Amino acid sequence: MVQTHIYDVVIVGAGGAGMRAAIEAGQRSKTAVLTKLYPTRSHTGAAQGGMCAALANVEEDNWEWHTFDTVKGGDYLVDQDAAEVMCREAIDAVLDLEKMGLPFNRTPEGRIDQRRFGGHTRNHGESAVRRSCFAADRTGHMILQTLYQQCVKHEVEFYNEFYVLDLVMGTNDLGEKAVAGVVSYELATGEIHVFRAKSVVLATGGVGKVYKTTSNAHTLTGDGMGIAYRAGLPLEDMEFFQFHPTGLAGLGILLSEAARGEGGILRNADGERFMERYAPTIKDLAPRDIVARSMANEVREGRGAGPKKDYVLLDLTHLEPAHIDAKLPDITEFARTYLGVEPYTEPVPVYPTAHYAMGGVPTNVETEVLADNETVVRGLFAAGEVACVSVHGSNRLGTNSLLDINVFGKRAGLRAAHYAADESVSLVAMPEDADAGVVSTLEGIRGRESGERVAPLRQAMQETMDANAQVFRTEATLKQCLTDLAGLRERYSRVVVQDKGKRFNTDLLEAVELGFLLELAEVVVVGALARQESRGGHFREDHTARDDVNFMRHTMAYRAVDEDGREAVRLDYKPVVQTRYQPMERKY
Ligand SMILES: Cc1cc2nc3c(=O)[nH]c(=O)nc-3n(C[C@H](O)[C@H](O)[C@H](O)COP(=O)(O)OP(=O)(O)OC[C@H]3O[C@@H](n4cnc5c(N)ncnc54)[C@H](O)[C@@H]3O)c2cc1C
Repeated sequence: MVQTHIYDVVIVGAGGAGMRAAIEAGQRSKTAVLTKLYPTRSHTGAAQGGMCAALANVEEDNWEWHTFDTVKGGDYLVDQDAAEVMCREAIDAVLDLEKMGLPFNRTPEGRIDQRRFGGHTRNHGESAVRRSCFAADRTGHMILQTLYQQCVKHEVEFYNEFYVLDLVMGTNDLGEKAVAGVVSYELATGEIHVFRAKSVVLATGGVGKVYKTTSNAHTLTGDGMGIAYRAGLPLEDMEFFQFHPTGLAGLGILLSEAARGEGGILRNADGERFMERYAPTIKDLAPRDIVARSMANEVREGRGAGPKKDYVLLDLTHLEPAHIDAKLPDITEFARTYLGVEPYTEPVPVYPTAHYAMGGVPTNVETEVLADNETVVRGLFAAGEVACVSVHGSNRLGTNSLLDINVFGKRAGLRAAHYAADESVSLVAMPEDADAGVVSTLEGIRGRESGERVAPLRQAMQETMDANAQVFRTEATLKQCLTDLAGLRERYSRVVVQDKGKRFNTDLLEAVELGFLLELAEVVVVGALARQESRGGHFREDHTARDDVNFMRHTMAYRAVDEDGREAVRLDYKPVVQTRYQPMERKY
């Protein structure tokens, strides 16, 4: 039995972006939040280092410097109008959280304390600046708990462990392309629920699980990007993936950049502080793309540490243990627990780990989703890591994502409520068989008696992505990756699950998530192959320079069918919005 629900606003995802939106929408309209995880288990809760805003609490700063850093950090692929909005509204975003009760670390005078983070500078690159607000190294946890409390206070309705698997669109009274609602699967019962709403907000987070070595949680499978792509909407700049420099070697578990913000230093096997060679001015606090590439290069050139010379070292031994305990308690515990290393006295083995999707569902600064370079899908909004607005361009600066989810989450909640209240448009009709696609996908997988298992397919996908589409890329590695992915997709058409039951069938949902991952991995690689230049997180060894003449443009990837009737990725491009900053060579 399909159950139908009607709301003004439906928000998909209960991470930072979804709950920040829910606080606004929930006060203004009948709002439901659908989430596949319990809200407080969302990945935002794993964020460590901080959220930046030019508060100028501990040293001189202003939001214009922050905007410049964001644009330069993103290697000029940032839409500058969006970066201006984010950096200007950052200050209120932090103060909003403070008023909600978030326990930020404080200066002795009682102000919100701030620390350094990669690529954040004073006066357009002179020196590192203290811009990141934090709660020890568990800032994301505090944000998520604080937002959840506010949602409870405003009586937002949560549908927990509801997996949204399809987006339904139609036409509104004005003849515009508009959203009708979503189709979801309830994990506890296996039942299908259709949600109709005038406004839908996508806030489903990232897609780190296309890679094997990643800081991302198991659930970050890009569902929101996948359902938008299948619904015919474009995905923007998916080839830009961020590799965070300091994952625990061999594991990928994150050690926040706050470790370097608090004074940590990267060294190679010779003990050399190698970042002095790559970024003479701000050294270890250069943006992540540069640090990750420098580390990988040290390893390639034989200066890696350890028995296999396959990692570098994060040195905190010169810091006072009391300082480490006060500012970096969780991450130093990770080093002890997972690697058996004592950060007070020994350097920690680290290597880049897949961390953040710069690309996603394209939106304008009002968080309205775009169906092409200009047309807005009425009633559909996106915010957070699932979206591409694009404030991060080709490389996100650390602490700019917790900021992004708060600024654009709030905007999405306000816009969604506003659109839902517009009486000139009514609810878009939902087709009788709106659930048919989801039901046939699920029954197809569940009904199959023999075939390919999920885990080996997922592992093979992650391995080829790590080997061929990671920090360094070439035409040959990317083509190899595409061939591998095509083979895996063919095998996936015969995917089978052991659990045939209705209740808590996570086996079945993992199979569905793998379907999204495989399609999105292909979008990443097709975009990377076409982009014959190096910019931000995308580095082509066969095209090492940035090429503004041919590639100063956003990639827009659409799901299409090629001449032979096979499904394929079609690429188009969109201009970058430039306001006050002219592209320059990126030096630190
Ligand atoms: C280990 C780690 C540390 C980080 N540290 C920092 C930091 O210090 N500073 C910083 O700025 N950034 C940091 N980041 C990045 C930042 O935390 C994330 O980009 C951001 O929190 C994403 O928030 P979100 O709301 O978009 O998504 P998430 O918090 O990932 O939430 C996604 C939500 O969507 C729901 N969902 C997903 N798919 C479905 C579906 N099909 N149906 C229903 N619901 C669905 C999930 O249940 C979840 O509630 C870090 C990231 C990681 C992984």
